[in-house]
Amino acid sequence: MSVVLDAIETKKTGGVLDDATLAAVVGGYTAGTIPDYQMAALLMAIRWQGMTYSETQELTRIMAESGPRYSFPDCVDKHSTGGVGDKVTLTALPLVAACGARVAKLSGRGLGITGGTIDKLEAIPGLDVHLSEDRFRRQVADIGLVIGEAGDLAPADKAIYALRDTTGTVDSLPLIGSSIVSKKVATGAGHLLYDVKAGSGAFMTTVESARELAELLVRLSGSFGITASALVTDMATPLGRAVGNALEVRESVAFLRGEPTSPDLAEVARDVAVRLLQLTGAEDPDRAVDQALSSGAGYEKFAALVHAQGGDVAALADMAVSRDVREVISPAAGSVAAFDALGIARASVALGAGRERKDDPLDFGAGVEMLVQVGDRVDIGQPVAKLYGSRRTDEATRLVSAALAVTDGPVDRRPHLLASL
Ligand code: URA
Repeated sequence: MSVVLDAIETKKTGGVLDDATLAAVVGGYTAGTIPDYQMAALLMAIRWQGMTYSETQELTRIMAESGPRYSFPDCVDKHSTGGVGDKVTLTALPLVAACGARVAKLSGRGLGITGGTIDKLEAIPGLDVHLSEDRFRRQVADIGLVIGEAGDLAPADKAIYALRDTTGTVDSLPLIGSSIVSKKVATGAGHLLYDVKAGSGAFMTTVESARELAELLVRLSGSFGITASALVTDMATPLGRAVGNALEVRESVAFLRGEPTSPDLAEVARDVAVRLLQLTGAEDPDRAVDQALSSGAGYEKFAALVHAQGGDVAALADMAVSRDVREVISPAAGSVAAFDALGIARASVALGAGRERKDDPLDFGAGVEMLVQVGDRVDIGQPVAKLYGSRRTDEATRLVSAALAVTDGPVDRRPHLLASL
């Protein structure tokens, strides 16, 4: 029997793959000698039978070692499992860097309902995310903050993840854990905070499943010598008020400049920054983060990154957004009970802020701005959201209207930080 048929048989019957078999299968698939249909069958068997912790750890190692590996043992990094309006990288990392920690971050592009930091950064005119390893290293040394596109890291994961995406095999805890951690091991930062999202706009829809993933990520990372911890944060509603690339940069800049912004964004960005500094052993991280915010040092660090990566710093003061704007109004009076992340995300993709397929062109100025948040009182006919962009505006209006739930009684705001470990 071939190695892959053997592996399928083993997993189908609840067995455990040995290291050599895992290496042969992953290597064969990445090299193109194992066809999609056999790998898909194996992934589906894993999806149903699971993997032991040691299988998961070995798969992580094999995928991490399948391409180039960087090493930044003194640097910090954060990873979000993906969300809607998730601008934590743009807000927390400049604060951390302003507090003296060195940040080396490789990020991805958005796909489907999940936005990507690289797209957000590219909304800033001129900003370059394609950094050579040498330039990446120099920027860490010069300003202590760099965010580049994760190019060819962990190519085995890239190939397998693309297949999982089209074969219904994404939702497997060991496959998600090994996929995420393999890229983090290849990036090489020594201190890592995971921001695991829970809710309708996230992979993990319940707090329990998000916590389970968070535990696996921290354990796996630790086994590769990375000091890691994790937060579980809410993704039932988008984070902050803006969803869309230029809109999110605008909101992040406002936060870093100390202008009034949404309390949930301030809470999560601050928590992530403090936790990252704790991982490095910094003294009094709460006070350091407050100072970085109040002195404007966090904003200065972000502006330094934009300048170093060729972006137009002057554009930050007034990010260009689409001039095609329409409002969505509330159909009822009462309290906002929900503003569903999934609905807002689909609306923003319809407007052109996100991609349905990998090479869909983006409209950087498109997106959704929520004018109300859960717990706010609204009147009938009151504008609740602004839609930016000229693509599929009727569909976006319908989606945003359906995402809003208004109720008679008062509604408590749910905290954004749901668990920490
Ligand atoms: N993100 C990843 O990088 N991999 C997964 O499997 C799921 C989310």
